[in-house]
Amino acid sequence: MIRRLLILGGTTEAAALARAAVARFGDALAVTTSLAGRIPPSQNLAGEVRVGGFGGADGIIKYLGDSGTNLVIDATHPFAAEISRQAEDACVRTGTSRLMLIRPPWQPAPGDDWIEVNGLDGAAAALPGISHRVFLTTGPGGIDAFSSVSDVWFLVRTFEPPTAALPLNDHAVVVARPPFTVEDEMALLTEHRIDTIVSKQSGGPTDAKLAAARSEGARVVMVRRPEPPVGESVETVEAALDWIAARV
Ligand code: NAP
Repeated sequence: MIRRLLILGGTTEAAALARAAVARFGDALAVTTSLAGRIPPSQNLAGEVRVGGFGGADGIIKYLGDSGTNLVIDATHPFAAEISRQAEDACVRTGTSRLMLIRPPWQPAPGDDWIEVNGLDGAAAALPGISHRVFLTTGPGGIDAFSSVSDVWFLVRTFEPPTAALPLNDHAVVVARPPFTVEDEMALLTEHRIDTIVSKQSGGPTDAKLAAARSEGARVVMVRRPEPPVGESVETVEAALDWIAARV
């Protein structure tokens, strides 16, 4: 029987998994990647692609039934907590096999000055008194959390130009998409005299802005990840392929 795999995507790992699964399992596995559709996909995806929200866990259940999907790999970003909870709910209710592909968190290296905080509110609360020029790399969602922080100038990086004024007292915007080199990031920190970077604990491959912070002596306010849902998880595409192989 042909197995049908749904990859919940929007990450580099999800795209790599789709590519590797199509190459390894061929006709024995139908692969579909689901994207939220907030931004245009930055890479060609192997297999089928569907775009847009499902309409909560009930929508995922309907999709699984209509498409005959029997395997789900949640390879979404560690901060995409809502879709991961909905996938857990849908898979538990339907008895569908589910795996989470969760990239390993970054670890501080010698010379790093990290403050770990809970949520964007925690990051905003950590800044007054210790930071004056802050590079905010957490994306456009949640900037409200920093709206009442005073005596801090923010540099905000977004993938797309903001469509409305940002709710910050004193700030500038830089529009850019990854990948960024360490040299790019060091130049940005120097140009804007940044003393602190606010970052989500996204994890994965070594990160250029964290390396730049280390060499420039900038502090990092690191927002801890939300707890992932209960369930089996792996950290690498290879391990996810082995999980599929055991079921194909
Ligand atoms: P979220 O808060 O967990 O999900 C919000 C809603 O967006 C979900 O309820 C669902 O809508 C829809 N959705 C999210 N991911 C989806 C997917 N892969 N396929 C279909 N629908 C999806 O998610 P988010 O934090 O806004 O992230 C959206 C997407 O961007 C995710 O796919 C994630 O992997 C990617 N991403 C997120 C971050 C981040 O920092 N959060 C960073 C990089 C990439 P319905 O309720 O209508 O089904």
